[in-house]
Amino acid sequence: MAASTLDQALAQLGYDAFRPGQREAIDILMQGGRALLVAPTGGGKSLCYQLPALLLPGTTLVISPLIALMQDQVAGLTARGIPATFFASTLDAAEARLRLDGLMRGAYKLAYIAPERLALPGFRDRLMKLGCPLVAVDEAHCISEWGHDFRPEYGQIGELLRELNPPRVLACTATATPIVRDEILVRLGLPADTPQLLRGFARPNLALRAAEISGPRERAARVDAVLAETLFAPGAGRGSAIVYTPTRRLAEEESQRLAAAGWRATAYHAGLSGELRALAQAAFTEGRAEIVCATNAFGMGIDRGDVRAVVHLGPPGSIEAYYQEVGRAGRDGGNAVGLMCWQQSDLPLRRRLLESPGSDFTPDPDVIEHKWNLFLELIRWADGAACRHDAILRYFGDEAETLHGCGRCDVCLALGSVDEVSVEEATQLARKLLSGIARVQNRYGLKQAVRLLRGESEDRLERDGLTRVATFGLLRDRSEAWIQRALSRCVTAGWIGFSGDQHPVVRLTDDGVAIMRGQRSARWLPPPDAERSAASNGG
Ligand code: ADP
Ligand code: ZN
Repeated sequence: MAASTLDQALAQLGYDAFRPGQREAIDILMQGGRALLVAPTGGGKSLCYQLPALLLPGTTLVISPLIALMQDQVAGLTARGIPATFFASTLDAAEARLRLDGLMRGAYKLAYIAPERLALPGFRDRLMKLGCPLVAVDEAHCISEWGHDFRPEYGQIGELLRELNPPRVLACTATATPIVRDEILVRLGLPADTPQLLRGFARPNLALRAAEISGPRERAARVDAVLAETLFAPGAGRGSAIVYTPTRRLAEEESQRLAAAGWRATAYHAGLSGELRALAQAAFTEGRAEIVCATNAFGMGIDRGDVRAVVHLGPPGSIEAYYQEVGRAGRDGGNAVGLMCWQQSDLPLRRRLLESPGSDFTPDPDVIEHKWNLFLELIRWADGAACRHDAILRYFGDEAETLHGCGRCDVCLALGSVDEVSVEEATQLARKLLSGIARVQNRYGLKQAVRLLRGESEDRLERDGLTRVATFGLLRDRSEAWIQRALSRCVTAGWIGFSGDQHPVVRLTDDGVAIMRGQRSARWLPPPDAERSAASNGG
């Protein structure tokens, strides 16, 4: 594809340069290929199907679950003279028929379709006659029961792709857990070796922090400290903040608490009427409110670049959800802080929430288990002792953008003030822990490593001769909970990895090997000696 053709189409869409990763995705599509594009929300995924849609003959179909987003995009395209339309349940029958006629006449370059439309009798048959060059599936993780946002109506998309068999398919998602990515491919009927493009997860201007708190009083103090640090004082005009709350009630209470302290704060949650929600959102985007206290209902379409802090009063359900929400800070590229408060009692709370049946369907036990693990990943991250920024990028598989310490998260700052003696001690501890992993790797999980290091004899260890090695009982003086916690910190630090899905077994990563051999020092914070109750048991 000639660069000048691409540049022209880019200009027609209103941009002058590609962002990292966009060009690769577009090239694959223009060559008649299929791809899974994994990039964070706001990463610029829509351009990757809009631009090919302009260049290819025929009508590109875009499946999207978010009506507001479809409307925005169609309005934007139409304003640029690009004929586009959308099909969703908000249209009355006459309007839908009119648009369908247009579609069949080839009047549109792009047609956005809400997935539930695909179930309407006759609709898919019409699409069959269209001969469309490209189908894009936005928010493709909604097809995955393992994902954090499963939508049953997404099941229709696999059928559609089988029937249409379009030459090009682009599946887009911000979810990067490998199991979900693989399930997306299977359910869309795409080959397992479909290229997965992964870009743009780094947000180096965010200072990420996680704090284990003892209760509401400490939490309030943390919130106040972050607000004072980032916004200075009520009405200072230095930007804005979002405080995410786990419940509607807490959104109300926290906004009242902050208002009483002089902040221009407002609450936003799904329990408010549409009118009140619109008022709250407008107050925030137009600058009349400087803080919004909100449940996760708040977020779509927030257009405020100067968010200087995103504080979570409790952990959301997964690293994906957390990163999407904290990602609303510092959109203007300026410095911003993300603080997530959590406490041990969040674990049983989340477990109960997962096990209570939803209004529309009861998830099966495997799905509950999977979501529980997504949550534990977030808690392990929060409880971890490695650079927060790098740990998140590693989770998403975006190794290329890790910084080997961002220098601004709470862990990096704590490590910065650690003296060399402590670094040496921490390195020795890491070497002991990792040598235990080396003994059981590719055979057993973390539990056996804990037994080995504790010196607890057990059938399988004996059979393998592991009760007679020097590593057996190497950390006899530590509690089981301490070793577990320390090992899970080695996981978040990227020294220990896992293989296998059903029964994950441990292995040392390249970094882990280098540390175990003493080729590198281990910059981490081992858990404190005095043991609190372990956060992430199992694992
Ligand atoms: P996603 O679908 O990945 O959440 P969008 O496609 O909506 O993200 O893009 C997010 C924002 O980035 C939009 O405001 C879009 O206009 C902007 N954007 C995308 N690509 C570019 C680019 N190459 N140059 C400048 N802005 C871009
Ligand atoms: Zn860091």
